[in-house]
Amino acid sequence: MKNTLLAFALLSTFFLISCGSTPSEKNNNAKACNTGSVRLTADFPTGRMNNCKVLADNEFLITLMPENTPINSSPWYAFKIEADQPTKIKITMRVKGDLHRYPPKFSYDTKNWKLLDHTLKNERLVMKVNASTKPIYIAGQEIINNQYYIDWAKKLKSAHNITHDELGQSTQGLPIYKIESKGKSNEWLVIFGRMHPPEVTGALALFPFVETLLNENTLATDFRRNYNLLVIPNINPDGVLVGNWRHNANGLDLNRDWIKFSQIETQQIHAYLQDLVAKGQKIKFAIDFHSTRHDVFYTMPTDYGMENKYFVKHWLGALDDAMPNFKVVTKPGNTLNNGVSKQYFADNYNVHAITYEMGDNTGREQIKLIAENAANTLMETLLSDINHNEE
Ligand SMILES: [Zn+2]
Repeated sequence: MKNTLLAFALLSTFFLISCGSTPSEKNNNAKACNTGSVRLTADFPTGRMNNCKVLADNEFLITLMPENTPINSSPWYAFKIEADQPTKIKITMRVKGDLHRYPPKFSYDTKNWKLLDHTLKNERLVMKVNASTKPIYIAGQEIINNQYYIDWAKKLKSAHNITHDELGQSTQGLPIYKIESKGKSNEWLVIFGRMHPPEVTGALALFPFVETLLNENTLATDFRRNYNLLVIPNINPDGVLVGNWRHNANGLDLNRDWIKFSQIETQQIHAYLQDLVAKGQKIKFAIDFHSTRHDVFYTMPTDYGMENKYFVKHWLGALDDAMPNFKVVTKPGNTLNNGVSKQYFADNYNVHAITYEMGDNTGREQIKLIAENAANTLMETLLSDINHNEE
């Protein structure tokens, strides 16, 4: 009887908590620390703190864990601290079986972020924080959650001639959105983003890149008259919601699934592109935004057999010329059967595609500057009458 009552009490509590937030945007993976006067929580979209333990007065231990293993080492965390009165607290954060990748940032409004002083020794990261009634957010990178993409697209739509609607749904039923701009031709530039949830610098590049393509200047309007644009900025909303390190809700890497299409996310995007082509449309080029330790553009080799073999070389050469203080690093590669998106475009549509990787710690202004220049030089390259089959 006692157990039944306890079970009922827990269920009721769960129900009450669930009612407090949108059911589809509930983050269930977050633990909390609550001493009564100091509270560490992560039950908000994109929050993550797998375990939290009170070690002593105002001393906490947070443990981070991946969604499953094996996994690329990208320990994500995002949590909020509140205290009833100004309190100095010490947080030790460790990663179970792995090392940290992201130095902590803090924000009071989740919009403006600054690096947080910390010490790092092996897998233990130590931070000292002044907690107060004003909530402070701490995260591995800026928090860009699913709602952020929706707000961004709405803002774009209010100023530009684009459509914004659902392409499909994720494993957990969250919407996967697409943005489209249609010109007079049948050729499409395709842009992917956020297959890997913690790769926020990739998202920080995608936003200004797309905004530059939508500018109202001569170059961009000329580009949009001659090319259509398909942007799928947030391919893994389930992973973004719970702050996964890399995978979707089934624990799979979506950027290794572009041959098998074992996941609903890749299946639906593939079907959409196939349908476009079946209707006489043509994929011209594709860019997939990610992050890694440094800025690098993973390309397909020029001799892989695609049309316009030197197109990417011409574009990235123009980007390098446009930015004297930025060295464009390209890494051509062809890994058969590994299921990455750039290879998918080459193998299925016979066109070039790149993985656009921004460094985790690249300056945010620099990310924007590179993206704007990359978008402008891409439009110029697409509109020029250079023969891309000659070097
Ligand atoms: Zn990635």
